[in-house]
Amino acid sequence: MGRRPRYAKGNRGTKRIMSGKEFEGKPAHGNGTRLASAGRKPEWTGAVVNPPVWRGSTHLYPDVASLKDRTKRNQDGDFFYGRRGSPTQWALCDALTGIEPSAAGTVLYPSGVAAIAGALMAVLRPGDVLLVTDNAYEPSRAMATGLLGQLGVEARFFDPLDVAGFADHFCERTRAVLLESPGSLTMEVQDVPALTDIARSKGAVSLIDNTWATPLGFPALEHGCDIAIMSLTKHVGGHSDLMMGSAAAKGPLYRKLRQTAQSLGQVVSPDDAALALRGLRTMGLRLERSTATALEVVRWLESRSEVAHVLCPFLPGAPGYDLWRRDFSGGCGLFSFVLKGHSDTARARLIDALDLFGIGYSWGGFESLAIPIDPASIRTGSAWPPEHWDSGDQYGIRLSIGLEDAADLIADLEQGFAAMEQK
Ligand SMILES: *Cc1c(COP(=O)(O)O)cnc(C)c1O
Repeated sequence: MGRRPRYAKGNRGTKRIMSGKEFEGKPAHGNGTRLASAGRKPEWTGAVVNPPVWRGSTHLYPDVASLKDRTKRNQDGDFFYGRRGSPTQWALCDALTGIEPSAAGTVLYPSGVAAIAGALMAVLRPGDVLLVTDNAYEPSRAMATGLLGQLGVEARFFDPLDVAGFADHFCERTRAVLLESPGSLTMEVQDVPALTDIARSKGAVSLIDNTWATPLGFPALEHGCDIAIMSLTKHVGGHSDLMMGSAAAKGPLYRKLRQTAQSLGQVVSPDDAALALRGLRTMGLRLERSTATALEVVRWLESRSEVAHVLCPFLPGAPGYDLWRRDFSGGCGLFSFVLKGHSDTARARLIDALDLFGIGYSWGGFESLAIPIDPASIRTGSAWPPEHWDSGDQYGIRLSIGLEDAADLIADLEQGFAAMEQK
């Protein structure tokens, strides 16, 4: 990119943090420092703190020789053409790589679902078998059986908590495993190190949808995963105003992800990349706050006679609580609970009565959300509801706790429960 700006001294100290090299040993900086400095290379930022928005399709070359040279090299961080990004997107890639221990690089996609599709397409071929955890995000399941099925990949679903039986799901065609921990809606924590060990011994690649914890709470590549996927729409964006996804991996797989994304023509807008970078700076604070608030709400819900089960990994006794304690260093404000008895219409009365919780998909924003959930309708590889639950306890609600005050959210839920009982 020519001459390095002289004036960008304040950003110089961040270079080592972003290089990824420090992760070969123990990270030298804490999460807050990392989030504040990540991706702020002088080459990307110039004289300002954050990388400016570089809008552009055409990139210009000084002469024909350099056009030919860039075309041949296809390197990260080289100006080439808009589809391969600009300093705004590269800074976001650097920043995400900087917070993902062991990653060689990160690829951006226009949504989380696009990231899951792009990562699976990078590692699967016709005839391969893909093992999918039975608590996976519903569009991941639909992609595995639908689009990937059409491409000749066979998807099989496995019980997220059954480590002992996991090896039995493999055959010589099994090429990849898709994990999600905690799983969408039902929140089971998986024994990721044990499952990825088994996958590796069978020659399969392990991918994880790590949207819930982010690498701040669960550094997935360090726990045995080969590819760590996130919907940046959730915690990284954090303000419910952008769609984006990412996949990070170690060296050889990173190159494969990048090559596949280039073939598929995946690109994110520089405006959205700048928003994602802005969100990233405060992600640690937002996660800490929403986790603390969620814990208060969870404890309150546990005390309510209307509630049969709270599905939250950081609750002692929850499925995978011990694994959560062992493997995670942080959480977020997303969890579910199940009503004792009641009905679909009673559940709707509760949700409709809430003032502070919006009704809508997505999560991880600054504002709280509530939706009804019915996991039983999508599971195929494990029992749901669990066999030991009382029958009739089936009407679930997922809450995404935002940055409001815990006391206000609890008061809102309290009046929601009152409305639920008024027929
Ligand atoms: C929302 C979500 C996705 C998909 O992300 P989009 O950016 O909405 O496409 C993937 N995985 C999980 C667990 C999600 O909650």
